[in-house]
Amino acid sequence: MSELRVRFAPSPTGYLHIGGARTALFNYLLAKSQNGTYVLRIEDTDVARSTQESVDAILDAMEWLGLSCDEGPLYQSDRFDLYKQKVQQLLDEGKAYRCYCTADELDAKRERAKEEGRKPKYDGTCRNRMDHPDAPYVVRFKLPDGREETTFVDRIKGAISFRHEELDDLIIQRTDGTPTYNFVVVIDDAEMGINLVIRGDDHINNTPRQILLYEALGYSIPEFAHVPMILGADKKRLSKRHGATSVMVYKDMGYLPEALVNYLVRLGWSFGDEEIFSMADLLKKFSLDNVGRSAGVFNPEKLLWLNSHYIKSGDSQRLAELLKPFLVEKGINFTSGPDLIDVVKGLQERSATLVEMAAGAEFYFVDQVSYDEKAKKKFLQPEQKELFTLLLKKLGACTSFTEEPLEATFAEVMEVTELKFGKVAQPLRVALTGGAPSPGIYDVLRVLGKEISLQRISQAIKALGA
Ligand code: GLU
Repeated sequence: MSELRVRFAPSPTGYLHIGGARTALFNYLLAKSQNGTYVLRIEDTDVARSTQESVDAILDAMEWLGLSCDEGPLYQSDRFDLYKQKVQQLLDEGKAYRCYCTADELDAKRERAKEEGRKPKYDGTCRNRMDHPDAPYVVRFKLPDGREETTFVDRIKGAISFRHEELDDLIIQRTDGTPTYNFVVVIDDAEMGINLVIRGDDHINNTPRQILLYEALGYSIPEFAHVPMILGADKKRLSKRHGATSVMVYKDMGYLPEALVNYLVRLGWSFGDEEIFSMADLLKKFSLDNVGRSAGVFNPEKLLWLNSHYIKSGDSQRLAELLKPFLVEKGINFTSGPDLIDVVKGLQERSATLVEMAAGAEFYFVDQVSYDEKAKKKFLQPEQKELFTLLLKKLGACTSFTEEPLEATFAEVMEVTELKFGKVAQPLRVALTGGAPSPGIYDVLRVLGKEISLQRISQAIKALGA
């Protein structure tokens, strides 16, 4: 067998969509796991709708997901000469023709077909035309005569046949001289040696047309694997109504790329009942054999669950780096005060996203604690003065703010005051955090450190009953 060559071929007309990212991921995984080559091709022949901004957005998202390509990005807009040459080749061989029908004429034909209950398709008016009027024209590919159907065996969906009566003479070059998708995709896949085309099943209907073009251009036909769509919970095609569909919006919402990769791969692929897959696992386990035939349903709760899994089990130092932009966004100055990695360690258990983690980190870095009104009413009352004064003294004498000495200090305070643990810890937590949900009290003390903890207790004493 020849070396596997696959490609991801996004059109730069917007951001990288969840569905596109999954297609890219399947291509990437298959190539990497089989020592193949993964090509990235930017399909920007639709000049009016393609933007550099969108190219950048797609490349950023691919990089964030870690799906680096082996070849590319290649741009179709660099290859117009080649496409022109191929159009000419088909014209010369009589496999394509110039069509001068105007938009109005085509509309009228379509109307008539509708009225007569026929499927609207081009009627071949210009098929055998010999003249070359000085007028705008498109170039159409002549559907080969004398064949009734085109069949291919899809690697995911099995054998698929299309009746030629469903097809018509496809436009391969627009009036402005630019080539169309179905034509260039064939030339590029063939010229780039792609031998397996993995893409969304919204392209299944294009496949017979493309196969006919491969034949007409004398290329060998690749294999196809059409991946089922992604649907929302209501079984309608995934759209913004179901939540964010842009990969980078998930980054902004504090998701980790490994969570998204893990989530995306399971949307349509399974491996027993396993749910957690690192990239290394996937490179061993992924194959097209376990890609399902039916659509995957997008489930935001599951994605969130995976994200909290990866935050819980992630490397604290890396998470601290990833957290920084979220802290900056909230105006949190993390350059002085507690050690950020320590803060992260305490929050990993309790944060489903980096946005949540940034919110949870805020109290560690403020100069002045601001108290939650309810918590203040409940726990910062004049009768707590004795307790806080004792805490100030005992914690001030505590030699090291680590678990054991802190526990011993707490035991002393509990004994002197005859208070239960919660009655000591709850007011103290409000003094230290303002009342925000936070890790265990020893952890908060340890991470804040002695100086800041004592400062905050003093601040609380001043605030009592105020
Ligand atoms: N450029 C096409 C798209 O974004 C993909 C074409 C293909 O994969 O064949 O839908």
